[in-house]
Amino acid sequence: MVETKEKETKRQFKAETKKLLDILVHSLYTHKEIFLRELISNASDAMDKLKFESTKGTDYVDKDLPLEINIWADKDKNLLFVKDAGIGMTRDELINNLGTIAKSGSEEFLKALSESKENVNNIIGRFGIGFYSVFMVAKKVVVKTKSYLKDEPPMQWESDGMGGYTVKPLKEEMKRGTIVEIHLKDDMKEYTEKYRLESIVKKHSSFISFPIKIENETVNTIKALWREPKSSIKKEQYVEFYKFLTYDTEEPLDIIHSSVDAPIQFSALLFIPKRNLDFWGLNREDYGLDLYVRRVLIQHKNKDLLPEYLSFIKGVVDSEDLPLNISRETLQEDIIFNKIANSVTSQVLSFLSKMAEKEPGKYKQFWEAHGKIFKLGYSDYANQEKYSKLLRFNSSSCKDEKELISLDDYISRMKKKQKEIYFILGNSRAAIELDPHLEIFKRKGIEVLYLFDPLDEFALTSLLKYKDFEFKSVDQADIKKISKMEDVDENIKEKEKLSKDDEKHFSSLMAKIKDILGDRITEVKESGRLLDSPAVLVNPDNSMSSTMQKIMHITGQTKSIPKKIMEINKNHPLIRNLIKVFKNDSNDEYIKTVAEQLYESALLMEGYLTDPHEMVNRINKLLEKSSDWYVTIKDLKK
Ligand code: ADP
Ligand code: MG
Repeated sequence: MVETKEKETKRQFKAETKKLLDILVHSLYTHKEIFLRELISNASDAMDKLKFESTKGTDYVDKDLPLEINIWADKDKNLLFVKDAGIGMTRDELINNLGTIAKSGSEEFLKALSESKENVNNIIGRFGIGFYSVFMVAKKVVVKTKSYLKDEPPMQWESDGMGGYTVKPLKEEMKRGTIVEIHLKDDMKEYTEKYRLESIVKKHSSFISFPIKIENETVNTIKALWREPKSSIKKEQYVEFYKFLTYDTEEPLDIIHSSVDAPIQFSALLFIPKRNLDFWGLNREDYGLDLYVRRVLIQHKNKDLLPEYLSFIKGVVDSEDLPLNISRETLQEDIIFNKIANSVTSQVLSFLSKMAEKEPGKYKQFWEAHGKIFKLGYSDYANQEKYSKLLRFNSSSCKDEKELISLDDYISRMKKKQKEIYFILGNSRAAIELDPHLEIFKRKGIEVLYLFDPLDEFALTSLLKYKDFEFKSVDQADIKKISKMEDVDENIKEKEKLSKDDEKHFSSLMAKIKDILGDRITEVKESGRLLDSPAVLVNPDNSMSSTMQKIMHITGQTKSIPKKIMEINKNHPLIRNLIKVFKNDSNDEYIKTVAEQLYESALLMEGYLTDPHEMVNRINKLLEKSSDWYVTIKDLKK
């Protein structure tokens, strides 16, 4: 049915495209000039793609067309033209590529917009928002294009950026590539001025690797900055290139520029951004380094040059030693490519190690921005030692939640006989410091790492150990060994020992509590770890870690509350009193009330108490009784 193809096709934009257009058309964004950056970037991509096809040996038309971008204006008609000799588009490609928003910038922009409280204007420029940004300045856009494939006819796409667009065969002859014809809005005449266009290109597109000509005059100096000797590059050039690459408005935190000659030649120019450029957590696709082979771009955002935990790094890698016709699919299996990847990874880790040592302030900034992603590196077994050295934690020796220590710091402060590195997980420093599990560690002056993210525990448990020291959660530590260590706190007064008789009653009291709580706990034991708390729940040996249990509970994989051991502190005044009550009447209701309350308080601390009603009720009754006693003691009863 050649006939239908000859005719004009009218189509509507997809819903998300309409949304984007609506935002762009109506935004009062003051830097509308970035539309040119986007069109030039598309033109450059189209020519990169052509180069790539040609290195693969694909046949294409108009082989002698120069690969350059031409920009010119028609002042009288208020028109602006951007032309390239790239890969062009077929009819179907026009519909698919310009009818729906492309994967990269625009979609992320919409996502960031829906998730951020910021104004459109503050974030628009940070994204490659793509082709549609042209509608910030245009009342109509005509795209004329001829695919690089021989049998494809030239096509024309036209839209006013409102509801839809039309696609039809182009009447006139056309060489390979694309011309974007922009019918500027009446108040956008400035974009027909040569000096204005020139300054925009210099500002946003100076690193495009094809000549950009405005009215036939080349305005960019094409330089593969990463191939230049380090000594010849000024800081501003690096920063400019970084901003070009990332759309970041700030300078990078640091720059890694290296050139290796043997055994494999490659240059890498890498940047550590100041902040996390990924606005929405860990499930992003937008990362990777640009891979060049002999200055030809082979792949944008290659995801195999660096492991995912270093995905915050931006930049380019260029090698002489990879074959130009390498396909993206076989890259991963290429031995040379893998050697380059390993080398780049180890360069980044060494760079960070040096930063940690020489510029701790800067390293802290790095950690705050990218630590969350970096922590995922626990599975990089080849670099485990370097990686572990770079980890940072808050710990009991820090003065506040902000301070960070390394595992080497921890080891340097370890007690003589200490063989393990202890950690505890909690929501905040304040919450952790109230955790009864910590009491024995405080008493013995043993440092404990404070983890605020379950991922940290995953990382530590997968690492198993650092140097010779195993990681141990405080609730799985060997308390017997720790109890034998010396107290550091001189203010701890040895409690008066229980008499033999009371010891017996204490044992029976524990049996009684087990009776009361029944199947909800595995056993009741005397605690060696408590100082200020009367009771605590601990994991039986070899059970799942508390974090795992909590994660399964939160994710709904199990509804049941894990059965734990209840440990009782016989030196706590409450328990001492309870022994007295028990001695007098072993079936006193008060014992039941206290046992239930201790159990539920512990559950509450561990985050398992789902229904507080019974507990609140019990507390109110206890308060009522204690107020009675208080009034009696104070002799306030009339
Ligand atoms: P992105 O560049 O992030 O993919 P754009 O909105 O800028 O998104 O462009 C959408 C798509 O339209 C591109 O992916 C490309 O396939 C196609 N396209 C745009 N401009 C050109 C051009 N000058 N030559 C060939 N294809 C183009
Ligand atoms: Mg684009």
